[in-house]
Amino acid sequence: MNKAVSYILDLFFPNRCPVCRSFTEYNELVCEKCMKKLEKYTFESIDALPITGAFYDRKLAGYYYENEVKNGIYSLKDGHKEFGYYLGNIISEKIICDETISKADCIIPVPMSAKSFRLRGYNQAAVIAETISTITGIKMMTDILYKHESKVQHSLNMTQRMENVSAYSIKNTDLSGRKIIICDDVCTTGSTINRCAELLKSMGAAEVYAAVGTTTKLKKE
Ligand SMILES: [Zn+2]
Repeated sequence: MNKAVSYILDLFFPNRCPVCRSFTEYNELVCEKCMKKLEKYTFESIDALPITGAFYDRKLAGYYYENEVKNGIYSLKDGHKEFGYYLGNIISEKIICDETISKADCIIPVPMSAKSFRLRGYNQAAVIAETISTITGIKMMTDILYKHESKVQHSLNMTQRMENVSAYSIKNTDLSGRKIIICDDVCTTGSTINRCAELLKSMGAAEVYAAVGTTTKLKKE
């Protein structure tokens, strides 16, 4: 968009930082102050190894899911896609620098149920995946994995619902030899990512990499 046009639009529809809600420049996804704060939550390699018995081969994350980062995720789930674009940029940088993951055949966002999709109007994992796809050129696919709204779900609380891995299914399709990135906004126990990886491997996927916007720190035993 033309700079002058963006500036004028900004006067009428000012951008707000998804983390602190203060006004931002027209070309900023997160304000400068918050970007500095977010630096300290940068994911390091300590959690990079998959959990024991995992179906995914590697895991890459943008940030630890803590404090300021949580605000960004709340806003992403509350109608504002900016933090999703921001996370997509952060993860893309990491993917581009990674010799293995950068050669993936496609990226699949963790699916939402049709009902949740209707309620929110978009899949926040797909906002991140689409940004990664645009930057890296890795094709996004949304017609392979599905999430169903099962009756059992209604008796579960919000966390249990999110972790209800039996709700996921896969289209009967040949994924032989494919290297696939599975993308999500938040990774807590890793069970959702793991279930998706299990399904993809059941169709022959050679390798599955997890690319998540944020991840909780593993508890030290
Ligand atoms: Zn801010």
